[in-house]
Amino acid sequence: MNGRDSIPFIRSPPFDQPDYRRAIPSVETILCRVDPLGLPRQVVLSLVRQELSSIRDGDEPLSADEVFSRVRLALQKFRACNLQPVINGTGILLHTNLGRAPLAPEAVAAIAEIGGSYNNLEYDLWKGARGCRGSAVEHGLALLCEAEAATVVNNCAAALVLVVQHFTVRKRQVIVSRGELLQIGGGFRIPEILEASGARLREVGTTNQTTIEDYANAIDSSTGLILKVHRSNFHMDGFVASPATEAIAALARKKRVAFVEDLGSGSMVATEEYSAIDHEPTPLEVLAQGANLVMFSGDKLFGGPQAGIIAGARSLITALKREPFFRALRCDKLILAALEATVKLYLNGSAVRKIPVLNMLQLPVDELQSRAIRVAQQLAGLSVTAKVSISQARVGGGSLPRSAFPSVTLELVPDSMDLAAFASRLRAASPPILGCISSGAYQLDFRTIFPHQDAQIVQVVKLILSEARSESDSAP
Ligand SMILES: *Cc1c(COP(=O)(O)O)cnc(C)c1O
Repeated sequence: MNGRDSIPFIRSPPFDQPDYRRAIPSVETILCRVDPLGLPRQVVLSLVRQELSSIRDGDEPLSADEVFSRVRLALQKFRACNLQPVINGTGILLHTNLGRAPLAPEAVAAIAEIGGSYNNLEYDLWKGARGCRGSAVEHGLALLCEAEAATVVNNCAAALVLVVQHFTVRKRQVIVSRGELLQIGGGFRIPEILEASGARLREVGTTNQTTIEDYANAIDSSTGLILKVHRSNFHMDGFVASPATEAIAALARKKRVAFVEDLGSGSMVATEEYSAIDHEPTPLEVLAQGANLVMFSGDKLFGGPQAGIIAGARSLITALKREPFFRALRCDKLILAALEATVKLYLNGSAVRKIPVLNMLQLPVDELQSRAIRVAQQLAGLSVTAKVSISQARVGGGSLPRSAFPSVTLELVPDSMDLAAFASRLRAASPPILGCISSGAYQLDFRTIFPHQDAQIVQVVKLILSEARSESDSAP
């Protein structure tokens, strides 16, 4: 038996060519004729069978060549889903679809070194006994945040669930301002997270105005937590006010209610010093202003791996780590290795030089411009118009929503290919290149392109243009 291929064809074809089915090449023939694109044989086989069965179910008779090209497309489409590096020409530094922060070389090396070997993840080499997972990284994070203690879970959403659940076991109510009930990315909504954690949400204030009295009036014997959520991915302007962290902290202290701030991005550096952008509140500031705990993502402006970092009072961090649920949220050795390496870069003062997002944030425009001009020069004389212009980049990824800062784009207009087709060929290239189509040109923003990728861009664009030329030459 040969799996699906030998299943008898039950539906009669909707036309009267009796040998229609015989025209469909066999799996073996297809495997000989189609490049597997480096995919595992089992994957290729399953895709070929799937494609053949959909061809049989369709009512269109296909020639053998058409079958081969359908299979080729299916393999290409599948290969495009494989996790692979891409060139980010969007100018968005933290793009959730593109994996957010690229890691520093030190963090990548730590993953390879720790991941490929046994290690002391939970072993105390000093005592020769069982040790604590992540104790060095927790200590480093506490130092960075000037906090008594810190810990790490899978991501900031997990940190939020853990914190809310911990503080609302007996007193179920969580107080949040209506102006902070935001949605982050695809379907992650703060109010839904709170309710899924078993808490009872008490919204206070209005969308644009929340006062300290609103918080004070809402506090009752069932209040377990006051949560402040940083408006990380949007900006409100106009008649807008909400109490400062200090004021909420003072109220929480007086009423003996826990007060936690979810910062989302949590930059460790003064962002406004690095580019002409707004100030992003730092975990250190929030704790100094009196929050009991602060939480933020590891892979936004912090520039590390996906993680949720929680810092603050030692007694609270210890209690969080004792929650049975903590075990379900803990990070694995690869994340801890990358995070520890990233934390070390901050501690030894080389973060801005070594952490890609921080480095990209502060690159001077003239440096980007000379790189873009060099790429444009290398494309001169080919069937494309290349122009360099000043543009605006964004932080993205739920950080500094209104801060666009100067950047440089290379605008490409191919002579004889439409922009959508050009963009799709760039996405299918190796490595895939992502830019955007705007003002009648294909645009690549150089702020988010690593210098070593400039040559790859030149190579890919040249290849696409020459393929297009030979296709049009061979066209009838
Ligand atoms: C991004 C963000 C989160 C979620 O962080 P993840 O690490 O993606 O889970 C939570 N809160 C705020 C305010 C955010 O900006």
